[in-house]
Parts: sequence; C-alpha cells; structure tokens
Amino acid sequence: MPSVQEARERILSQVKTTPIETVALDDSLNRALAADILADGDYPPFDNSAVDGFALRAGDVSASSATLSVVADIPAGSAPTVVLQAGQAARIMTGAQTPQGADCVIPIEETDFNDQQAGTTPPKTVRIAKQMKPGENIRLRGTDMRAGDVVLKKGRTLKPQDLGLLATLGYADVSVHKKPRVALMSSGDELLEAGAPLEPGKIRDSNSHVLAAALAGAGAEVIRLGLAKDTRESVTALLDEAIHKKAGLILSSAGVSVGAFDFVKEAVETNGNLDFWKVNMRPGKPLAFGSYRGIPFIGLPGNPVSAFVGFEVFVRPTLQRMSGSMDGDRQRLRVRCAQKIESDGRESYLRARIESIDGVPSAFLAGHQGSGNLLSLVQADALLIIPAGVKCLPAGSETDAILL
Ligand code: AMP
Ligand code: MG
Repeated sequence: MPSVQEARERILSQVKTTPIETVALDDSLNRALAADILADGDYPPFDNSAVDGFALRAGDVSASSATLSVVADIPAGSAPTVVLQAGQAARIMTGAQTPQGADCVIPIEETDFNDQQAGTTPPKTVRIAKQMKPGENIRLRGTDMRAGDVVLKKGRTLKPQDLGLLATLGYADVSVHKKPRVALMSSGDELLEAGAPLEPGKIRDSNSHVLAAALAGAGAEVIRLGLAKDTRESVTALLDEAIHKKAGLILSSAGVSVGAFDFVKEAVETNGNLDFWKVNMRPGKPLAFGSYRGIPFIGLPGNPVSAFVGFEVFVRPTLQRMSGSMDGDRQRLRVRCAQKIESDGRESYLRARIESIDGVPSAFLAGHQGSGNLLSLVQADALLIIPAGVKCLPAGSETDAILL
C-alpha cells in the first residue's frame, strides 16, 4: 500500500498538462498563464496627482503663506499643455497628469478653496498656508511597473487582481492552458438525487455536489455523469460515457473498496489498469488510481469525508498539474494542538477547529471523526495533518493544518 506521497507522485507522473488556448480576459480567471507577462512600458505611464488639489512649485510656498494664481484646470484624462511658472498653480484631479513646472500637489482640503462640490469652476487665486516638499502627492511614472519587468510568471493561476494588471497592460485576451475536463460520477444503489424524498435504505448523493463544486473551484470543466448503479453494466456505461465526452480525467466516488458490489474497481481493471487501490492514510484508505481506456482515473472513497480529503490530497494537485499551474501546494498553517490528538499511525487528516489562544493558532478536534459525518467537516476550519508513523500528538505539540 503506497504512502500518501508515493501515491501522489504516481498520479502526477501519469497526467498531462492541457494545451494552450487564447481566451477573453474575463474568462481567464483561475487559468494558468501560458507565458511570462512583461510590462511593455512604464506604469503609471505619466506622473500624476494622488489627490484632488492644486499642482504648484514647492519653492513658491516655502514662506509662511502664499497666494498663487490659478492658470489651468486639469481633469483626469486630459493631457496638460500648460507649463507652470513661479507664482502659478493649476487645479488638478486625482489621476490627472501633472503639468510641467509643477513639482508637488496640495490637497484641496489644505487650501482656502476647500470646495468639494462636483461642477465647481476653479478660483482665480488660491491661498496656501503650508510648506510643501518637492514630489509630495505626485505618483511618478513607472513607480508601479517598469518597462521590461516580468510582472506575472508563466504557470501562475490568475486571480481577480491579476486580471486588473493584464487589463492595465493592454491585454483584452490572454494565452492560458485549457481547463482540464473532468468526468464525475457517483456510484451506489443506495444513492438518490439531492431533490428526491428519502426511501427505506437510501441516502442522498452528497459527494457529486461536493466534488463538482471543488472541481470547478480548482479550475476544472466538470462533466456530470450522474449516478451509477452497483452493477457492472451501469458502471461501465458511465465510464464509457466519460470517454465519449472526451474527459481528460475520470473521477468517481465509492465502489473501490472490498465490498461485493464494488464494481468500479472491477471495471477499471477490466478495461484499463489499476495502479493502486489503497493508500496508507486516514480517512480515505480505499482510494484507487489507474486508467480507463487510456484516460487517468481516480476513484475516491464513498464516505463523504474520505472523498473530500481524497480530493484535497490527490485531486487538487492533479488538477494543478493538468492545468499547467505552477502555484505551490495549498498554503498550510503551523498550529498548536490544544488537546491530545491520537491517530493510528497512518498519515491522518483530522477535522479541526482553529482558535487563537494567546495569539497562537490552536487546534481542537471538530466533532466526531467518523468518515461518514459530513456535519463535522462543515463545522471544521481545517484538516489537521498527523504525519505517518505518529500515533499521538500531546497537547501543546505543533503540526500542520490545511485551512478549509
Ligand atoms: P462504498 O465505497 O461504496 O463502500 O461506500 C462507502 C460509504 O459511502 C457508504 O456508507 C455509502 O453509502 C457512502 N456513499 C457512497 N457514495 C456516496 C455519495 N455519493 N454520497 C454520500 N454518501 C455516499
Ligand atoms: Mg457502495
């Protein structure tokens, strides 16, 4: 039975990165950049005012007070032609290009013309009773980015703020990796659709909703295959549908343990190959990996918490690899165990609540750790990691947690 790390490496070595395509900027969120992005010039592209106020020469207001004549009005978006002379000022708005000759901007609130109504015309003169330093309230050209700077790296998964940077640099579309297409199925005769009334012996399928949402959040395109019955035919039909729909990865839950009706494992063995079907972890030991008709297949356990943990530990990094993302692993937090925490020596991912105690993030187990208990997962803030070979973490010891 492979360790978590071995299992992850075996999966990652078998999956391929998707090809590159060009998409509209607004469709590039959560996609991995196909190439480095360089600034094509200096940004901001011109010196501009950081405030609404008056542009002037600092040297003019070095005495206790000065009255300057207002010779221009510079709204944002205009390109001023005026060259300020000694004793002159120009009214200027935030973001407007500062005129030649000016070396600072005084905020309107610090002048005798503190008129903050929209639509006012500038005064003939402005009185200033404050000393100014050259450069004050001027945002210099190139302070954000310099021409030639690499501002976003190839492989970065684009965030909302990155889209802003790309727009600033003039990208209306952007070259990214295609979304991995992931076919998702649940299996089990006991499963009902979320909207169905309960029947004797049945439960509602929660896994496909958790997993579809997690897949979409991790940048995948999800193909919903629905629910397979616990028969060879039903399982094979859905797996074949995944092939027909050109999935790049097949993800299932349940049917991969040692039960008499666990046909998912059998179907993969028959029409593909099974690399492993158990991992030395807790929860989530019955976790299968292989390929079905040449397409990588991950079979998550059926128990809802195990399926979720399996997603975090194996599927998320797999999607990252497939989608061309070079972001590191999900951020982990070093936490202190607020209570004694026991496990069985398998690498464990326990549901925990994190509270700050004396400023230290401290972990308590969140509810019952049974792998069927979804509510305790909902109530948890983190998955607390107990390393392989460790059976007990005494209160006060430290370990890593994956924040949920
Ligand atoms: P199995 O892997 O088929 O032995 O299933 C393990 C446990 O997970 C059983 O209690 C199943 O009823 C439960 N289970 C399997 N699939 C789902 C699902 N899609 N949603 C909720 N629970 C499930
Ligand atoms: Mg089952």
